[in-house]
Amino acid sequence: MPVRPGDRLRAAWKPPSSPGAMRPLLRRLLRVSNRSIFAFIFFFSLSSSCLYFIYVAPGIANTYLFMVQAQGILLRDNVRTIGHMLRQYTNKNATLNGTDYPDGTNATDFTAQSTTYLPENFTILPHLPCPEKLPFMHGPQIVNMSEITLDDLDLMFPQDMEIRQGGHWKPKDCTPRWKVAILIPFRNRHEHLPIFFRHLIPMLQRQRLEFAFYVIEQAGTQTFNRAMLFNVGFKEAMKDHKWDCMIFHDVDHIPENDRNYYGCGEMPRHFATKLDKYMYILPYNEFFGGVSGLTVEQYRKVNGFPNAFWGWGGEDDDLWNRVHYAGFNVSRPEGDRGKYKSIPHHHRGEVQFLGRYKLLRYSKERQYLDGLRNLIYAPNISYEKFYKNITVNLVPELAPVKDY
Ligand code: UDP
Ligand code: BGC
Ligand code: MN
Repeated sequence: MPVRPGDRLRAAWKPPSSPGAMRPLLRRLLRVSNRSIFAFIFFFSLSSSCLYFIYVAPGIANTYLFMVQAQGILLRDNVRTIGHMLRQYTNKNATLNGTDYPDGTNATDFTAQSTTYLPENFTILPHLPCPEKLPFMHGPQIVNMSEITLDDLDLMFPQDMEIRQGGHWKPKDCTPRWKVAILIPFRNRHEHLPIFFRHLIPMLQRQRLEFAFYVIEQAGTQTFNRAMLFNVGFKEAMKDHKWDCMIFHDVDHIPENDRNYYGCGEMPRHFATKLDKYMYILPYNEFFGGVSGLTVEQYRKVNGFPNAFWGWGGEDDDLWNRVHYAGFNVSRPEGDRGKYKSIPHHHRGEVQFLGRYKLLRYSKERQYLDGLRNLIYAPNISYEKFYKNITVNLVPELAPVKDY
């Protein structure tokens, strides 16, 4: 008879003759599995900490980098000012520079605000367009970060302010220059909403704009996708009304100056130029985050935001690229009008989108393949007193992209 492989092993193995003989074997097996359980737990926690670090560290590093950079710029400016004062002191006869302003300062920053706004006694009329620089836009406004509820907010706005359901308002004493939809990407920041409306509603009323708020809330378990929410918000808002200007607004950004006019213009606009978290210095020239605005026409022309940025970072940089590839420039509010305070986050450690650098290299190739045009979704809609809520479950399959 031929010997089959395994026969010799089977012959060598004898079953343990008694339960007592089983015990060392069992103990050995148990010992090994105990060890492997500990090893598994150890490596599992090590790898999850590493993953967490890889996701979160770039964001923390990013914020600190911009802060350090801003501190450097402030320090350099201070040294320059001290140098200037010393020069003046040692050369007592010298006048400044023929103007009232020291070298290097932009005189318009100081003067424009007081001279170009309409005087207090200026009369506006219902059949005429609302002016852009109204007398009751005073400039710096106090930011109040204390938490309130939406019911408290209700009491703050008397009937004569007439805010319709969904937060829709329009002026009666003049014809609004812009019909503005404010789009707010949202998940799990309920305490931010009343603080946001408390500042935005009076400011937009003073600016005599027609406006409504759209809170686009991401449901489901996917990582956050700010850009895709804006695309959804845009499409939904356009079903409601003939909006002509879209403002893309983080919920935690509160404007500090009511002369930061939320109308659109010939060029896409970046409103949030000076953030407290970056020590009021633009972190880099191409920064387009926080609050930006495009006319409906401009937004369609650039094919909206990209849908492929899952997690924190990069989607605003991609919009900047799209805007420029479409032949636009970006305008910004002058001087301190672009100042914002950020509501401190209760939710830290937003998942980073590490693939953003690669996608940003292909902004041009992807622009017309991924954006408004390839997006399908099914929203859930509800109306609140101050906003319209659009809840949507986002997954990558909703925005298929052909190879590029
Ligand atoms: N956001 C949200 N929930 C989240 C993450 C983001 O509502 O879990 C929205 C919110 O409007 C926020 C914006 O997306 O202001 C930008 O996200 P985040 O504040 O985390 O970005 P950062 O301020 O760190 O750049
Ligand atoms: C990110 C942007 C972000 C900016 C400022 C950049 O590195 O790509 O999405 O807005 O940092 O935080
Ligand atoms: Mn934020």
